[in-house]
Amino acid sequence: MPNVAEQSSAIRSYYEGLAKGVFRAVTCKACGGYTFPPTGCCEHCASWDVTPVELSGDATLLLASHNISPACHPRFEKIAPYVYGHLRLKEGPIVQGIVLGVKPTPEDLKALFERGPVPVKAETLQMSDLPVIAFRLAG
Ligand SMILES: [Zn+2]
Repeated sequence: MPNVAEQSSAIRSYYEGLAKGVFRAVTCKACGGYTFPPTGCCEHCASWDVTPVELSGDATLLLASHNISPACHPRFEKIAPYVYGHLRLKEGPIVQGIVLGVKPTPEDLKALFERGPVPVKAETLQMSDLPVIAFRLAG
């Protein structure tokens, strides 16, 4: 079992990559599954035998909504209101993230819903204290 320093090193590596537009995960040598965000342990089979990998950044937006209450963290107040959604990464994991390229209005969200699943591309949103992953509509 990895120690705490190895685990925090995975988190540090994730944010260092994100700051450069590199999206890091881990793959599992036991089951082949991807874990994102990366940790020292496979989220599918609990194996500790994982390897760092870079993701393509390609994803599919499955569902989008917008925040009507205050931002979930003060770092997001400057960009609120914003659209967020559930996305399936090309490599498999389903994640939540901020969605760029669509306005947080009922009309735009309805039009997006009616399009069905749409391709998105990951990008880095640099907040005042740390980078966060966001996904932009591909077209
Ligand atoms: Zn596994």
